[in-house]
Amino acid sequence: MKCFQCQDKAIIELQHGPVCKNHFIHYFEEKVFKTIQKYQLLEPNDKICVACSGGKDSQTVLYLIKKYLQTHHQDTKNLKVLAIDEGIKGYRNTTLKDLKQFCKEQRVELKILEAKKELKYTLDQALKSLKKKNQLEKPCHICGVWRRYLINKGARELKCTKLVTGHNLDDEAQAVIMNIFKANTSLSAHLGPISGIKDYELFVRRVKPLYFCPEKEVRLYALIKKFPVKFIECPYAEEGYRAAIRDMLNNFENKYKGTKQGVISSFLQILPLIKEKEIKTNTKPLRECKICHEPANQEVCHACKILGVLNEK
Ligand code: SF4
Repeated sequence: MKCFQCQDKAIIELQHGPVCKNHFIHYFEEKVFKTIQKYQLLEPNDKICVACSGGKDSQTVLYLIKKYLQTHHQDTKNLKVLAIDEGIKGYRNTTLKDLKQFCKEQRVELKILEAKKELKYTLDQALKSLKKKNQLEKPCHICGVWRRYLINKGARELKCTKLVTGHNLDDEAQAVIMNIFKANTSLSAHLGPISGIKDYELFVRRVKPLYFCPEKEVRLYALIKKFPVKFIECPYAEEGYRAAIRDMLNNFENKYKGTKQGVISSFLQILPLIKEKEIKTNTKPLRECKICHEPANQEVCHACKILGVLNEK
């Protein structure tokens, strides 16, 4: 295959044709920068916190946010990195090691919040303890609740005004389909390139610059740039509902090219309607959790509810 723009050796076939390494890099970076601009993900005075796991998505988004700030003559000194150590033995310690190296290379400040310190348990310990109590919680459910909780808390403590995440097109397409299959329309209202519906003082707005980047493009970009990524998978990854949706979407994509892009394009057309409906009908606006004072949509937040079960004798 030859690049349709310069006739050099092509390394990937995009929707508009095969491209070489240089044209892919240009295309990929342009796509991310255009997403930031079109959806106004960043404003000039924003203090930015990039939520990083140490994997390919988070290293890519961190690198590109820094590059975006530099090419737009904005200060990079307010750029911070936040990582959550959920305590997943043999996995998170490896990705955090990669992340520490990357942050050092990129000269950005890294803060790590540990679930063990903040919530008294590692994820591994919590799952073991729940199993003993015959409460079979899905690892990804607890992990997701804890991560959202700690990322928001950490970004607010860093006094950041925007929280950047590395969610890519595959992640978002999976979330859209999951919410449809589970009839969770109100959760879908919080998706999109900018998460959430309204501003709330305790909640740092989340933005997704890789929103239109398929996972395979992010992987290729991280490989070309030689980011220190091991490409290992979480030991709990296969247990989740999301893994089944991921496999289904990948099968469809292999048979019918453009499926994931189609899910996202259709979703973005109806998202304003879903948000409007959610604003009109939501009876659970954000408030402070009465135990930990973090944002919650009920009296007690999900993280405190999980802790309540874990602390039961
Ligand atoms: Fe957490 Fe599940 Fe992702 Fe593992 S696969 S890091 S448990 S959300």
